Amino acid sequence: AHGMALLQDPLLNKGTAFTEVERDALGLRGLLPPHVQTQEEQVARFLVNMRRLPNPLDKFIALSGLHDRNEGLFFRVVCDNLDEIMPLIYTPTVGLACQRFGHIFQRHRGLFISIHDRGRISEILRNWPHKASIIVVTDGERILGLGDLGANGMGIPVGKLSLYTACAGVDPAICLPITLDVGTNNEELLADPYYVGLRRHRVTGEIYDDFVDEFINAARQVFPNVIIQFEDFANHNAFRLLEQYRNQICTFNDDIQGTAAVALAAMLSALQVKGTQLADETFLFLGAGEAATGIADLLVAAMVAQGLTPELARQRCWLVDSKGLVVQSRSGLAAQKQPYAHAHAEVDSFLAAVQALRPTAIIGVAAVGGAFNTEVLQTMAEINPQPIVFALSNPTSKAECTAEEAYTATQGRALFACGSPFDPVVYQGNTLVPRQGNNAYIFPGLGLGAISCGAKHITDEMFLAAAHTLAASVTPEDLAQGSLLPPLTRVREVSVQIAVAVAEVIFEQGLASKSRPEDLPALVRAHVYDPRYVSYV
Ligand code: NAP
Ligand code: MN
Repeated sequence: AHGMALLQDPLLNKGTAFTEVERDALGLRGLLPPHVQTQEEQVARFLVNMRRLPNPLDKFIALSGLHDRNEGLFFRVVCDNLDEIMPLIYTPTVGLACQRFGHIFQRHRGLFISIHDRGRISEILRNWPHKASIIVVTDGERILGLGDLGANGMGIPVGKLSLYTACAGVDPAICLPITLDVGTNNEELLADPYYVGLRRHRVTGEIYDDFVDEFINAARQVFPNVIIQFEDFANHNAFRLLEQYRNQICTFNDDIQGTAAVALAAMLSALQVKGTQLADETFLFLGAGEAATGIADLLVAAMVAQGLTPELARQRCWLVDSKGLVVQSRSGLAAQKQPYAHAHAEVDSFLAAVQALRPTAIIGVAAVGGAFNTEVLQTMAEINPQPIVFALSNPTSKAECTAEEAYTATQGRALFACGSPFDPVVYQGNTLVPRQGNNAYIFPGLGLGAISCGAKHITDEMFLAAAHTLAASVTPEDLAQGSLLPPLTRVREVSVQIAVAVAEVIFEQGLASKSRPEDLPALVRAHVYDPRYVSYV
């Protein structure tokens, strides 16, 4: 009886790799075919089968199936083949997987808490069989750049938590993905017979706020010290919730703060190439939402740390939103845009803003695919010997430009980073290797650091430390080929460095719930999970 339970628990199952001794000791004899395999053989078999599949969504489904059967094997596959697998379990494929979530649904994972569950959320959290140290939660209202996907958004917390394990070695047993289902305003989904969520429009206002508040308090009560990462909330809720809870609990919003740290790291690399300082640059954002103002705020924090006044630092950053350049004379600006509403005439197009402000860096985070068109890129190339071009919107269909477009329009001079992955580009015999400004370089390491110390809050200083550590991991060889971030293959090592740097800040700021050990790297490493099988006897 014991043996069957083992095979059905993905955290413990090793499938055909259970040894002869384990098969006898654990009641597994006969439940498995006789030949015992190694994990390496299982990995190879899985990869052969997966690679035969015709498209990324089918590969995603195969990977999810493996994740549901055998987490050790899943993470071994992911960790050893990060370049190949990450785009399948995260952006861009996860976007499609969320759109098709109900159609490809195989097995439950994580917790769905719906607005009908008000008053009993702590009871629901207690249905979770493990002690969670990190929760990634979404309400599905702004999934990647794809908009409101309702409860289908669950693909995002699941994917993000897979990256915690794959990129930083956070133990999958302490990871809990959660979707808050408050309805959806996506009519297509509401009409879809396979949609997994409530058939109703979104709840807003006080009821929504009370629901989120009940969830936060219940989570804190059921899982003391848990980190709550907000993911893909629409910006009318994201900023409010972050402000409300950041000094109360251990929480952060990855779309605002994680994005900011990875973008700052890539920017520091670009400046390393140019030989300039942040304060020498003029940053123009396409977009004025979570990502844009998050990045701008962290750029300002970094400039202030270098001695600039906040006022002067903010002057370096300009935003373009759906109504044009954000300027002082505009009324009714959202609070997060106001620090960047400078005195200037109104400008209605992004190209006109580039011509008027002559930025040294353009950062695309508006989810408007193709917005960095040839004219924009050529103008940047006319103004700057080394134009900085970050096309960060996800998934690939929403990218402001491709790597190829950025390099071609600037004669290979662009210092480029992207949100979704692009292949290397050969420009006039030079191979340029664009790297993904992917939050996965930041949040897993930051989370690992916070878990290791039992952090009470997550602060901006921790994101600054993470960004500087990430930038410092970029080598001269990376820079020489146009790479502003390290290769993904190094993310595990970099994540541990980030975790240590973040732990340092946590102790410095008095936010740890344990006393500081002599050896911080050892503390962090003690929390790293290894997907290789261990013996159960
Ligand atoms: P958000 O908070 O909803 O903000 C979107 C912003 O884009 C808003 O300010 C909106 O203007 C603006 N916008 C929309 N249409 C526009 C147009 N035609 N012209 C100019 N601005 C326009 O979303 P977000 O969280 O910032 O995310 C935006 C994108 O960044 C998404 O594609 C997301 O996937 C991507 N992202 C990438 C990463 C990464 O790691 N690479 C991380 C986070 C986010 P209004 O304010 O006027 O509505
Ligand atoms: Mn996100």
